Amino acid sequence: MTSTPPIRIGVAGALGRMGRVVAGLVRSREGAVLGPLFDRPDLAGQTIDGIALTSVAEAIAGSDVIVDFTTPEASAALADACSKAGRVALVVGTTGFSPETFAAVEAAARVLPVVAAGNFSLGLNLMIGLVRQAARALSAEDFDIEVFEAHHRRKVDSPSGTALMLGKAAAAGRGVDLAKVSERGRDGVSNARAEGAIGFSSMRGGGIVGEHSVVFAADDEIITVSHSARDRSLFARGALAAALWVAGRAPGLYDMQDVLGLGGEGADG
Ligand code: NAD
Repeated sequence: MTSTPPIRIGVAGALGRMGRVVAGLVRSREGAVLGPLFDRPDLAGQTIDGIALTSVAEAIAGSDVIVDFTTPEASAALADACSKAGRVALVVGTTGFSPETFAAVEAAARVLPVVAAGNFSLGLNLMIGLVRQAARALSAEDFDIEVFEAHHRRKVDSPSGTALMLGKAAAAGRGVDLAKVSERGRDGVSNARAEGAIGFSSMRGGGIVGEHSVVFAADDEIITVSHSARDRSLFARGALAAALWVAGRAPGLYDMQDVLGLGGEGADG
């Protein structure tokens, strides 16, 4: 009888907050085995929990899937290296991509299976469907939409990748292009809302893991759909589920809606 070998999961950004949690979870997950761990190139050789950090090339050679929570530039460089090597599936959790840095992820997805998601939680991915549905039902004439998010003081990008996913879902529900209706940052006078605008507000402070609300505000009623992440292991569990799902798939750019079988729109970070 032949048994399926465990899937080797490498971790990019292994010294980071998310990378550490992902590596810890892989260790205790049946069907998976911890592959190479790596972080910034200058840190190769340093050890974490007795394991020496490798180079990107060694990580690509020794992994079936790499889970990547780093920076947009590092994720783009990793995606390039994987494309060139023509092997390994990728799970990209990094957020804050520009169109240029995300282009490298898209290029990798033409030759490799890639899951990219600004948020790996089941609850949040369900919320995306609810927001799309509410935005479809509530007219722009009567209801203003505002996406509110709060995160810990060290988060560098804003609005969060998740807030952008929610804004995109609201725009899709209304059949409009988010880029044309997005309203970011208010300061000074002349800041009355344009009809149909989808606004974003961000707060940074303390150790907040991730709070997201989408507010539909009319003159006489307000509907709020919200999600609260209590522990970042939530995202690591989702990323690990994505890694086990994507290993051995056909090349393509998948998102968490695909992994969870929810069939929604793209979820780029
Ligand atoms: P962090 O700063 O704690 O960790 C990032 C790690 O990446 C650091 O250890 C850093 O040294 C490493 N790194 C930098 N350049 C690198 C390179 N060239 N190669 C390899 N590693 C490199 O940050 P974090 O809180 O772990 O978050 C990382 C990213 O994940 C952020 O973009 C964050 O917004 C995102 N995030 C996404 C989700 C999600 O569900 N998609 C959840 C939480 C965080």
